[in-house]
Amino acid sequence: MTGRAAKKSGSTKPNSAKSSSSEPEAAFQPFEAATARGLQRRLVNWYVRHGRDLPWREPDALADPYRIWLSEIMLQQTTVATVEPRYHRFLARWPTIKKLAAAPLDDVLHEWQGLGYYARARNLHACANVVSEAHGGVFPDTEDALRALPGIGAYTAAAIAAFAFGAPTTIVDGNVERVMARLFAIEQPLPGAKKILAAAAATLSPKKRTGDYGQAIMDLGAEICRPKNPDCPSCPWSIRCRAYAAGDPARYPVRSKAKPRPIRFGIAFLVSDGNGKWLLQKRPEKGLLGGMIEFLSTPWADQKITMRTAKSHALLGGRWRLMPGSVGHTFTHFHLEMRVATGTVDVTKGMHVPLPEATNTFWAEASEFGDYAFATLTWKIAVFAGIESAS
Ligand code: SF4
Repeated sequence: MTGRAAKKSGSTKPNSAKSSSSEPEAAFQPFEAATARGLQRRLVNWYVRHGRDLPWREPDALADPYRIWLSEIMLQQTTVATVEPRYHRFLARWPTIKKLAAAPLDDVLHEWQGLGYYARARNLHACANVVSEAHGGVFPDTEDALRALPGIGAYTAAAIAAFAFGAPTTIVDGNVERVMARLFAIEQPLPGAKKILAAAAATLSPKKRTGDYGQAIMDLGAEICRPKNPDCPSCPWSIRCRAYAAGDPARYPVRSKAKPRPIRFGIAFLVSDGNGKWLLQKRPEKGLLGGMIEFLSTPWADQKITMRTAKSHALLGGRWRLMPGSVGHTFTHFHLEMRVATGTVDVTKGMHVPLPEATNTFWAEASEFGDYAFATLTWKIAVFAGIESAS
């Protein structure tokens, strides 16, 4: 489609594709309005026949915002297959937002165990409290008001607005970005191209059936326009897809060369009292893994830590045995290599140094570990050290 044709159609969208001072000229060429409407129709029709049957969806109807919100928060960084059973369990425990707001944060963190990215669980609890107290337990229905809630960013606000309230909006996540990069054959690399890809998505957003369209494009990205091996012959948009026409759709989205993930180092201390109990501590509420329960540990540093400098973080005197090997765990912005030191404090021989209350420490048997909000990293350390009930 040429720029002239787009202008003839009366569409005003082509201007959004042109540049501002920081964007290259003609980042993408929008479709004529009639073609865009045809693509919307094809996609929604495909969704009606082939869309995934997911428990939080209500095809052809508006969905419950509590369920949409919960599923969207769970689906951030976590696969549908992992989320489905956890979503049902969570809803069975807290069927309404008011019940969730009334729950202790520790219970929510414990329920979240294994899903990772625990800031989501803390925000979930904080958001439930705001909706309960400031909005009478009813989710607001505009994107702006939704975005003001804890843990709800642009994507989640748009998804709730479209799926639960039918608001005309543009939902953009990684799936949508990939589909847009291919459909329009956008050469600008990610992450710099995010605004261009969002502008491209906006040229196709419908005013009606916004929920079905949004769910449809998610499914297209997940099932057909996959990161590798897109199934173009099955795609309802193949007829207009510029990357498919060019013969190498998987080349898109173009990406800037990723910087290597930095590595951090730490030493965890597995302290036993010699009578089957292990020393645990609660992390501060704010920050990475906030409020989670863990073994004692040094801070995580950019350089390897020696036992000599690490010992002050053990809080207790004792003989330490540094285990061979290490536990690796990858977070979003860095990779962590944890060494593990074990030691026994013999309370019967007066070696038990009273712990300062401010450290938030307590003793627990390994059989009780499942009762606490352990992060995956803490379970990995327990398994690595051979504490039987951790497996
Ligand atoms: S034709 Fe292929 S590359 Fe283009 S949108 Fe469909 S699946 Fe993606």
